[in-house]
Amino acid sequence: MTDVLSVDPERPDPTVIERAALIIRTGGLVAFPTETVYGLGADAFNDDAVARIFAAKERDPADPVIVHLADAGDLPLAARDVPPLARALAERFWPGPLTLVLPRAERVSPRVSAGLPTVAVRVPAHAVARALIHAAGVPVAAPSANRFGRTSATTAAHVLADLDGRIDLVLDGGPTFHGLESTVVAVEDGRVSVLRPGALTVEALNGALAELGAPPAELRRSGPSAGSPGLLDRHYAPRSPLILVRGPAAAVRAWLKEALDARPDTPLGLLLFDEDAAALQPLRPLHRLAALGSRRELAGAARKLFAAMRELDAASPAAIYAVEPDLEGLGLAMADRLRRAAAEVVDLGPREDPTARTA
Ligand code: AMP
Ligand code: MG
Repeated sequence: MTDVLSVDPERPDPTVIERAALIIRTGGLVAFPTETVYGLGADAFNDDAVARIFAAKERDPADPVIVHLADAGDLPLAARDVPPLARALAERFWPGPLTLVLPRAERVSPRVSAGLPTVAVRVPAHAVARALIHAAGVPVAAPSANRFGRTSATTAAHVLADLDGRIDLVLDGGPTFHGLESTVVAVEDGRVSVLRPGALTVEALNGALAELGAPPAELRRSGPSAGSPGLLDRHYAPRSPLILVRGPAAAVRAWLKEALDARPDTPLGLLLFDEDAAALQPLRPLHRLAALGSRRELAGAARKLFAAMRELDAASPAAIYAVEPDLEGLGLAMADRLRRAAAEVVDLGPREDPTARTA
């Protein structure tokens, strides 16, 4: 059975946290809110507990898990030989949605790293997450709290939809703030490479690197690679096929209009920015819209993205149509998730300069 306990996201009740921490210390699994998405936590030193994460999620054992610390000062528990540039980035961005890939400390279960000599580490900026990790007294290995390959969980209800009966406890601290996972970077020879774009934008990262006198981050192409084995081409997928449309705004809207006109009596899902949705009104009753808000307010859109995908998917539409955001700021991470969630990408050519775009 999976218990659910409500917690105040800012001032969690210490007795609730202690109950959850006891489960972690004794090898169990607790889902908890972070500022990015909900994590599924286990004692990172306990090999059997980490194995339970993989079993509950049905996660590929070759996909390594991020280790969460209560405080940057605990870094030696999880990692060793931390390069000065990584230390400077941790100082700048922790607590927060930056994950650093570093040489793994001996006590961390090798299962966490899927056999790699490295470990991915971060300090989350969420009072519940930090209180839990602090009370557990061990680094907490925690991937996103969803079934492997499916859409990440941004509410306790999403966690239960995927993992009820498979984990011991869910701490319900309400919806998460960013709604996208952390940005994962590797630091080698004074250079930073982004292995997975995320809630910390590349622009913010590069701003800090410039101040530190380091070159801008290199963007690794997503897809299975030695750099980050978990970056599968297909991930975050809803059950209904997601069709991602990219290109100039006018072409995208015309394409969508035609696609909808061709299937007036088919249940379809639409995952759209308000600007694109407005151009397609009125919608037919079977064409259901999950609006992300304005494409100019990507923080709000990112926060809604995974919940909107799940909401549309729940109605089992024949297809879900989504439009790719501009590839800047949080748009880069949103586009990454959408591409990997997509069964098909419709490319209508290069888009216009986003700074010149109106409407
Ligand atoms: P999550 O499911 O949010 O915990 O995502 C974990 C992701 O972080 C993995 O899928 C990898 O892409 C990345 N990651 C974790 N550990 C490592 C590592 N040791 N080296 C490279 N990438 C890692
Ligand atoms: Mg995940």
